[in-house]
Amino acid sequence: MVLRMKRRVTVENGELMLGGVPASRLAAEYGTPLYVMDEALIRKNMQAFRDSMKEFYGDGLVCYASKAFCCKEIYRIAEQEGLGVDVVSLGELYTAKSVDFPMEKVCFHGNNKSEEELRAALEYGVGRIVADNLPELVQLDWMAAEMGKKAPVLLRIKPGIDAHTHSFIMTGQIDSKFGFALETGEAMEAAKQAISSPNLQLLGIHCHIGSQIFQIQPFVEAAKVMVGFIGDVKEETGFEMTDLNLGGGFGIRYTDEDEPVPFGDYMGPVSEAVRKTADKRGIRMPFVLIEPGRSIVGEAGTTLYTVGSIKEIPNVRTYLAVDGGMGDNPRYILYQAKYDMLPACRANAPADHFYTVAGKCCESGDLLGENVPLPEMQPGELLAVLSTGAYNYSMASRYNRRPILPVVMVKDGKSRLIVRGETLDDLIRNDL
Ligand SMILES: *Cc1c(COP(=O)(O)O)cnc(C)c1O
Repeated sequence: MVLRMKRRVTVENGELMLGGVPASRLAAEYGTPLYVMDEALIRKNMQAFRDSMKEFYGDGLVCYASKAFCCKEIYRIAEQEGLGVDVVSLGELYTAKSVDFPMEKVCFHGNNKSEEELRAALEYGVGRIVADNLPELVQLDWMAAEMGKKAPVLLRIKPGIDAHTHSFIMTGQIDSKFGFALETGEAMEAAKQAISSPNLQLLGIHCHIGSQIFQIQPFVEAAKVMVGFIGDVKEETGFEMTDLNLGGGFGIRYTDEDEPVPFGDYMGPVSEAVRKTADKRGIRMPFVLIEPGRSIVGEAGTTLYTVGSIKEIPNVRTYLAVDGGMGDNPRYILYQAKYDMLPACRANAPADHFYTVAGKCCESGDLLGENVPLPEMQPGELLAVLSTGAYNYSMASRYNRRPILPVVMVKDGKSRLIVRGETLDDLIRNDL
């Protein structure tokens, strides 16, 4: 076994191994392009979050943010590992329901939930509905009344922390489509309304300050602001909320340049901030929830492509085209996301060439990476793109009428299909 990069990539006889299965065997069995997910790593990540909650809070709930990678099997695994899940649409909720995911462990998000979605959430008995705005609270109240239910509610709060500016600032996030602002009094008004609505049960508050965050301090600041708000509401109304959902956004390694913070490093300072602020404000220690998405599935995913045409433009660049692209990984065209890549069957070959890796869609922007270091590549070779487990399959499109790829789960030297790839007939199924 050889470790090629800083990250742990398993290579045997020069070949990339995924969950103990040689990449070439997966390509031969399922074809390319192909999404491959490492089950052991997904479970390990889930367990690490769960154990860490226990260690630092004694209790709490890890809700896997299923928008990162959503299919039946991931909900089954989350349930087996004792996690809850976040859903943001009827489609995600329906998928969770289809495998009997325990609904009391579901958090339902969304800045513009439809009546149909709210009705399903109430009917299914979702454990927490994260309300985003005042009209939604009003709607939930009458819908719950009509259905003879009490709607369990969290309020989505903008804590005023923008984790993406270099030194995060305290007012930066007022301009967000998500949630209630604190500064304007909107959040307090929402809390009062929820408390006084007979058909709503106000459980607590939620925030999510961004994604792919490598710093600890923004999470600490957000925790202080959030617990402070629980204190404010208690002071003003006498009502003490119990739930504190601190969201997700923990950074992962996409390339060797990324240095993710071990999860335990966040939990110590954040739990301390929660505890201290709660003490100071005279409130009980809240029940804490977190919502990791990419940090559970991101590094567990690898996409296998076959190299096709290679086009050298002298003194400009060399295009290396693969048999997939923006349809299966839109993150480059969306935000120039970077990925590490390697030739799956010569994983230790020195990367002494630079390629612009292109897809096969009819867009010049259909790239998977630029200046990607690789050995000199040959048509027909297998190319592995690493850390594609999050926001790839879940963001896939059928642009250029390319079918959605299959997803294979690997573990202990075995592979199994967890999502069938679409066929040509699937592509025309709904056409009239
Ligand atoms: C996207 C999202 C998450 C997960 O974010 P990651 O960066 O994948 O961890 C968690 N909570 C909410 C509300 C989100 O919108």
